[in-house]
Formats: sequence, C-alpha cells, structure tokens
Amino acid sequence: MNKLTIAGIGPGNRESMTVEVDNALQDAEVIVGYSVYVDLIKPYYPGKDFITTPMTKEADRCRTALDLALQGKNIVLICSGDSGIYGMAALAYEIRGESDIPQIEVLPGITAACSGAALLGAPLTHDFAVISLSDRLTDWNIITKRLDLAAKADLAIVLYNPASKGRPDYLLKACDILLHTIPDDRPCGIVKAIGREGESAQILTLKELRTASVDMFCTVFIGNSETRVISGRLVTPRGYRL
Ligand code: SAH
Repeated sequence: MNKLTIAGIGPGNRESMTVEVDNALQDAEVIVGYSVYVDLIKPYYPGKDFITTPMTKEADRCRTALDLALQGKNIVLICSGDSGIYGMAALAYEIRGESDIPQIEVLPGITAACSGAALLGAPLTHDFAVISLSDRLTDWNIITKRLDLAAKADLAIVLYNPASKGRPDYLLKACDILLHTIPDDRPCGIVKAIGREGESAQILTLKELRTASVDMFCTVFIGNSETRVISGRLVTPRGYRL
C-alpha cells in the first residue's frame, strides 16, 4: 500500500506523544524529519532507517517522503507538536496535488499552545489566536495586522516562533504593536523547551515580555482582559459563576 503517514510527535517527551503516533512509528520502516526531532525520538525506535534534512528544506523532506511512499515503503514523516500547525501536512498535500497516490494520513499531536498552556496554568480557556512571528514565509505587514486585530478583538494570543538568530528583536516589535491596545501590566507567559531538557515556564507582564529573552524553542502567551495570575498560575476564566 502506498501511504505516507505524517505525524505530530508532540512537544518532545515520549509521554506526550499519542499512542496512535507511537504505533505508527513502531510500524514504520523509514522515519523522515528535521534532525532535532529525529534525535528526540531515535532512542525509542531502534532498527529503523532515519532520514534527516536541515530545517529550511521542508519541501525536499516532503518530496523524499512522498517518493519513498510511492516505492511502497512504510514511511512516517514527523513534525514537532502537531503536523498541521506550522508543520508539513499541508505542504505534502500541495506537493502531491490532485492525486490520491500515495495515500496521505495525518496523525495529530499535542501542539505547543496546548502543552505550553498546561505548564503555565490555564491561559487558553476562552477564545484565542495563534500567530507565528516568523516572516520567512509570511510578510511582516500581515503579521503586524494580525497582532493588532487579535489585540483589538481581546483574544488571548499564542506566539509561535517568537525569535530566531536572524530576528532577535521580533518579540519586542510585536509587543510594541500589542501595547497600542493592551495595557502594559497584562499577564503573559513564556514557556521554553516543553517536554525537553531545560524545560521552563515564566509568568511576567507585557511590559516585561517586551525585553524578555526568547529563542526559537520558546512559545509566548499573552492573556486577554480577563486573564489573571491565581496562586502563581496564568488563568483565563471562561466566565463560570463561582
Ligand atoms: N508544529 C509545531 C510548531 C512548529 S513551529 C507545534 O504544533 O507545536 C516552531 C515553534 O513552535 C517554535 O518556535 C516554538 O514557538 C513552538 N514550539 C514547538 N515545540 C516547542 C517546545 N517543545 N517548547 C516550546 N515551544 C515549542
């Protein structure tokens, strides 16, 4: 059967991977992915063939996986978190185009918004927006517009890709846009390396967030107007009467 499975492995620790994804990886002949993610899971799947590609070679990685699936191999292409959230599931469908060979199956994983929210408390209990600050594939003007409108809509906001070596000041720029609408004492959070070595979570104000140091392994949370810190946890009430 010519099938490509695209699986989200969750934040990084094995316990946060779904049983379905674990089963797919146990059954795989070849596991394809970005080297950082392959290194995370490799110890648990001895005897498999692993193919790794650099971070910016997503299309090559998808083509390799689709070609191998066409050859009849049992292939699993892995992404961190969920493969449909800033992952490669859409790219695989785009490359395959109007064809149903190989078959594509997408297996969901726990995205950083969920695993990070759980570490901080419960900041996403009401409506929220997820925005990536990476302008590698998206025009910065669109990113700023989305930030501005999410703030105006009083959504809690999750920021993926808050910084990288080439864009160290993007979180500061994003905070400056949000500060047009949101008061500077708004509770926020940063989570780093969820489920991996060095995992951390920090609660701070939007003013503090502006100059906080973040990297590509961080996910950032900005509360809505109801969000408060309760016993050291970032909490966005749904509105239930107590
Ligand atoms: N598909 C992934 C997102 C990939 S984009 C998912 O669903 O989670 C990469 C961004 O995701 C990172 O810059 C970071 O903001 C976030 N991220 C992914 N894994 C993370 C982790 N283990 N800890 C903290 N942030 C993470």
